Amino acid sequence: MIYLDHAAATPVSKKVLEKMTPYFSELFFNPSSPYLPAKTVREDFEHAKSVIANSIGAKGNDLVITSGATEANALAFTAVSSESRSGGAKILVLETEHASVLESVKRYPFELIKVDRTGLIDLSNLKNKLSENTELISVSLANNELGTIQPLAEIATILKEEKLRRLKNHNTTPLFLHSDASQGLSLLDINVARLGVDLLTLNAAKISGPKGVGALYISHEVRLKPFVNGGGQERGLRAGTENVAGVVGFAAAVEALKNHSASKRKKYMRLVENLKHELEGASIEPVFLGNKKSRLANFLPVSFPGLDAERLIYKLEERGVLVSTGAACAASKGEASHVLKAIGLSSEEIAGSLRISLGVLNTEENVEEAGRIIREVVDSEFERIKNDH
Ligand code: PLP
Repeated sequence: MIYLDHAAATPVSKKVLEKMTPYFSELFFNPSSPYLPAKTVREDFEHAKSVIANSIGAKGNDLVITSGATEANALAFTAVSSESRSGGAKILVLETEHASVLESVKRYPFELIKVDRTGLIDLSNLKNKLSENTELISVSLANNELGTIQPLAEIATILKEEKLRRLKNHNTTPLFLHSDASQGLSLLDINVARLGVDLLTLNAAKISGPKGVGALYISHEVRLKPFVNGGGQERGLRAGTENVAGVVGFAAAVEALKNHSASKRKKYMRLVENLKHELEGASIEPVFLGNKKSRLANFLPVSFPGLDAERLIYKLEERGVLVSTGAACAASKGEASHVLKAIGLSSEEIAGSLRISLGVLNTEENVEEAGRIIREVVDSEFERIKNDH
């Protein structure tokens, strides 16, 4: 099997699993219990949180642990006030955000910000939509279908100017920047101060950590509302017995990333270039999607207009190559990708789109083989259609 879908899931590494295992057995204690072994578990949990937080330039107390990025995104939206005001929307989100953002935001007055053909945010559209009432902007660090990296620092500067303007007008409405960094953590050096974000979503599942574990970074200025009520854990925002094994695994996965991003970026850039070169030889000219300069190095979104991606995926799986059409959740519902629609692809281009995302399971050799297989499958699909006509 050659796995080319690391944006959907990553295998938990052996090291990560080893670190997690004791917390299921001998270190099973509830971190809130009063005896010494439980206190040790509490310390391990807090230490793990600090490791995750430090990796993004924050402190352990700045993080709330969640059951994944979906929950962290929903929690971030509780930053907005509950008072109803007339005028512009309270939240602005990018139209290409993950379903967890687009579905959660529906509970609030919101508007969508446009992207260009490469998936990059349209900054003038953001400026136009910013109103006196806007309290939160949510823009992912990197898109999960295209890998397009958004200029968060530039967005933060625009928001800073708006905040200054409001200050002059005695408008005390807060304005925060949230970013879902689920897809960026494995390859980008993330620092919350440098990015200028107030809220940041992290996801262990995309970095060879366990599924069902995430975190929300919350800056000191932001006040969130309790999201899951109960025993008061996680600052009372998200109660429930802590997932110690999961958080220890998340921290171990974060530690394994340390100092490797530059060399990994180089490796994936080379592999993606080789793959592109191979696909360019196919009978149908591929349309490479996303932004050439500002994209995650391990992403290769590509369309073969005229072909049916669902069939391609099935044929590729028969030959041992696993790829996706877009976000795994959208793909499983058989819906056309809202991301590909937003970047203005034709229905033929959307129907023929594959998302290839490389990662830990890829080598020069297996990517080369996968490229050859994809090209052969595309060629044979082209022949089939030609003979049908
Ligand atoms: N946000 C982005 C950008 C993602 O890629 C994903 C994962 O599919 C999620 C959110 C949801 O993560 P989870 O399923 O771990 O809650």
